[in-house]
Amino acid sequence: MAKTVAFFGLGNMGGPMAANLVKAGFQVRAFDVVPASVQQAVQDGCSAAASEQAAVEGADVVISMLPDGAIAERLYIDGAGLLNLIGPATLVIDCSTIAAASSRRIAAEGKKRGIRVVDAPVSGGVAGAQAATLAFMCGGEAADVEAAREVLQHMGANIFHAGASGAGQIAKICNNMLLAVHMIGTAEALQLGVDNGLDPKVLSNIMLKSSGCNWSLEKYNPWPGVMETAPASRGYQGGFMVRLMQKDLGLAMGAALASHSSTPMGALAQSLYSLYGELGGEDNTGLDFSSIQRLFGGSR
Ligand code: NAD
Repeated sequence: MAKTVAFFGLGNMGGPMAANLVKAGFQVRAFDVVPASVQQAVQDGCSAAASEQAAVEGADVVISMLPDGAIAERLYIDGAGLLNLIGPATLVIDCSTIAAASSRRIAAEGKKRGIRVVDAPVSGGVAGAQAATLAFMCGGEAADVEAAREVLQHMGANIFHAGASGAGQIAKICNNMLLAVHMIGTAEALQLGVDNGLDPKVLSNIMLKSSGCNWSLEKYNPWPGVMETAPASRGYQGGFMVRLMQKDLGLAMGAALASHSSTPMGALAQSLYSLYGELGGEDNTGLDFSSIQRLFGGSR
């Protein structure tokens, strides 16, 4: 019999992830606080759950893809209290990007009840969610991550076991902090070149074959028109929003504070994304994060 998945949070990411589980033959029960998200999920083949309780009743797996840690903690512990509604046979996989401390709290509360909990934040964005090519960074017991793999493999191409509970969240924020740093570095290098008479396409091609080569330059060039497929060439629409990068940098800085780690580049990146988010009274937080190029002036 097909496995039953209770899916919470059918937004930009959760919607297409749930749709891929339906395609793989899972019975997916969708629950979201926004009715339109549930309606879309039903069109994709999910069934609508009337309540949190109805969603998890007899479910083999619970998956959540929520905006933040407070919401996740409320769903599992303090509010709806899903951990009190399910038993040890149900595997919990939280794919939301939240603080490692929140993930550890949910896992510890699960453990008290004999419930397996895996944190599995993702990289790959909406396009990766649609194409089922996400990277999952998992934290939890090895056996539980193996069990999660059976479901996650239908939504992603790479599934990593980063370590104990919360380790998936740490891997995710380390990655995104580095992403912010090399995106800003790439933007400032392009601006310097253009200010000194270089064509941004020519400069990009040179750096791609030189020691400055990096993912932002290779896959996501922030200068409009250099790379047809990049958000920069469609008015910075779509992609990974500034406000999500701000959130991830906030989580990275929180982790750095807790571990007394020195993260000067991450701190500067956070500061620059804060400045840029409301630059000149404009709200830039809904634009793709590569639009930080505009902070440096020339491409505006
Ligand atoms: P989103 O806001 O589009 O979706 C979140 C969904 O959760 C919404 O539909 C919302 O109504 C729902 N929700 C809120 N409270 C709920 C509750 N109590 N019960 C059920 N549903 C509830 O956000 P998103 O872009 O899908 O991001 C989800 C998570 O994935 C975030 O943690 C984000 O940081 C992470 N993420 C996003 C991207 C991206 O490119 N969008 C990439 C990687 C990771």
